[in-house]
Amino acid sequence: MLIDSHAHIDFPEFDVDRDALFEQMKRSGISNVLIPGVSPAHWQKQLSIAKKYQSPFALGIHPWYVNETFEKDIVELKKIIKQHLDNDSMVAIGECGLDKIKSANWAQQISAFEAQLQLAAEYQMPLIVHSVRAHGEVLTLLEKYKLPKGGIVHGFYGSVEVAKQYVKLGFKLGIGGLILNSDANKLHRAVQNLPISSFVVETDSPSMLPKNSDQSRNTPLLINEIVTKIAVLHAKPAVLIREQLSSSFSQVVDI
Ligand SMILES: [Zn+2]
Repeated sequence: MLIDSHAHIDFPEFDVDRDALFEQMKRSGISNVLIPGVSPAHWQKQLSIAKKYQSPFALGIHPWYVNETFEKDIVELKKIIKQHLDNDSMVAIGECGLDKIKSANWAQQISAFEAQLQLAAEYQMPLIVHSVRAHGEVLTLLEKYKLPKGGIVHGFYGSVEVAKQYVKLGFKLGIGGLILNSDANKLHRAVQNLPISSFVVETDSPSMLPKNSDQSRNTPLLINEIVTKIAVLHAKPAVLIREQLSSSFSQVVDI
């Protein structure tokens, strides 16, 4: 059994058939999902879904949801993390990070990311990082905070060199649906050139549908195709890669 290390299964896209989807996942060898946090407005529903399905979760503020109220939101984040310190299902802080596609709130993104880096350091928890067109800035901050438990750079797309720098800082690279795109050459090279212990798998459901998909939303069921693609790139049997990915996930997330 394998876990989808990043799926927003609490989002409304799954309200109609979440039970059925969890059943289907179990039949397909996907035991559960890690639900990342995105904003104060999402946390309560996220927590109730995580409880219902016994899903591991992270609490945090996604860079798209960082706005002028972020200082107050960080105070709320600290409060809710403290309330769950005894909850074994809270396994990480995040998702948080930097995204240059939404650069209007750039200065606030940096402050909010630093606040969450500090929380991961203080509570000795892994961090789930969202890094889009910002690997340089993210690496500089990770270098500054040197998190004791590392974390996951989710939805990774980058070069072999960038991948190695994250790994050196104790981070795993979350490989998702982008790897299924035939023109994702840079990512294919990164996956081929690093050991499987550098990776975890994820779907970022309901987002990140591969280009050739005919579905209207992404689901954790895509994990099996992602594993198969990684196995092809490493020229190894998929069952072996699956095992290695599962133990790689356990190295960073304590579940
Ligand atoms: Zn996400």
